[in-house]
Amino acid sequence: MNLRKICTGLLFLLLSFTVSGKSPKYVFYFIGDGMGFNHITATSFYQSADVSDLTDKLLFPHFPVTGIVKTRSASHYITDSSAGGTALASGHKANNKAVGLNSRNEPVFSIIHKAKTNKWMTGVITSTSVDDATPSSFYAHADSRGMYYEIGVQAAKSAINFLGGAGFKSYTNPQNSNDPHLLDVLSANGFVVYKGLNQYKNEKKYNQPVVLIPDRDYPGTALPYAIDRTPEDLTLHQLTTSAIDYFKTNKASRFMLVVEGGRIDHGSHPNDGATAIKELIDMDKSIQLAYDFYLQHPRETLIILTSDHETGGLALGTVGSNLDLQSLDKQKASLGKLSGLIDGLHSRYPEGVLWEHVVTLLEENMGFWKDIKISKRDEARLKACYEETFVSKTAKKIVTTYSVDEPLAMLAIEIINKHANIGWTTKNHSGASVPVFAIGAGAEMFSGMMENTDVPKRLEKVCRIK
Ligand SMILES: [Zn+2]
Repeated sequence: MNLRKICTGLLFLLLSFTVSGKSPKYVFYFIGDGMGFNHITATSFYQSADVSDLTDKLLFPHFPVTGIVKTRSASHYITDSSAGGTALASGHKANNKAVGLNSRNEPVFSIIHKAKTNKWMTGVITSTSVDDATPSSFYAHADSRGMYYEIGVQAAKSAINFLGGAGFKSYTNPQNSNDPHLLDVLSANGFVVYKGLNQYKNEKKYNQPVVLIPDRDYPGTALPYAIDRTPEDLTLHQLTTSAIDYFKTNKASRFMLVVEGGRIDHGSHPNDGATAIKELIDMDKSIQLAYDFYLQHPRETLIILTSDHETGGLALGTVGSNLDLQSLDKQKASLGKLSGLIDGLHSRYPEGVLWEHVVTLLEENMGFWKDIKISKRDEARLKACYEETFVSKTAKKIVTTYSVDEPLAMLAIEIINKHANIGWTTKNHSGASVPVFAIGAGAEMFSGMMENTDVPKRLEKVCRIK
């Protein structure tokens, strides 16, 4: 194990020196939405065998260049994803809620737009919707991140070669029913829209811009969480593979691909630790694809990974010095799925849901009592919540940024977080700085402490994009 670690370290070092000073022709720009330092450390602890196991199982922490990125927006110390995305896309601080506009609400152009005008091929893919705040920061300008139809129309006019994600949030204009359907706008602008990986594999054309979205609608227009995924679901890994394949087949002399791991943020908003960690591991699999490409073209490839902000104020330790992140592996469903399962008990047991039914559900999905020791106090809290949900029916669903959940599910997540000894300060974003990791041609530009706006500015410089 140690030898493998040393060899990996030497390989990274050797490759980073080899490519030093070069301008990249192939750029992978990863954004882990909501990923802070503690998300990475939590994932590392979760993946470690025990406290003596120091090897990082994630790929990207091995990248030779690291830096620190400050995240405040033009309007707030705590940014949202649209201002954070705009800063990372264009090099301009923006006001919260605005997409692709500077602090004076003037349009600013992204590194993807500039790469395109410099004749690079371009791509933007995400595990959320194509018109969500972070991806849209790379091609759209809007006062509000919620102007989904207008943002979708701008995607159609973006001339980006490869767009992918969980679909679009609004295919029609709620303000004007005479406006054309977004799929028609996309095809009128030369895009071929593929629904599902099978359709893409069977019918793909390389000489036209592509939109790759799933063959089904997903709640919230986001790809299912890695923790909940079934084999039929489209994944960020498949989108990344498809985009790389598209650029390779088109013999792109230069390309820039933005890849957003957008659901680390979604899992962190309601403080669902296991779900957020598994999203981070899932994004790392897409980074592995970029790294494999880099190994084939080490002098010409640059991989950067950063984040737009931290979400949740994740803390490693709330009581004492013992952490048990590994116990989060007993959680088999996201908070949202757990909520659905709890809600489903009503129809499964129409004659009345018993406490035993809830116990079985929590044993199966959270490992409670079997693998996770439940204190008398927590059992009493769970039982009280069961009674409010299924007996008196007075329980009210809990609303967070991206979800509406059963209080019983929320409590179960809180209990497993407590067992792991992780805490959260907020169900919003925090003002924490975030990391940047880089490897490849020009990677050395991304060391030190910088503003989020410096990331695309440095990328522009290293790519010699004007
Ligand atoms: Zn968020």
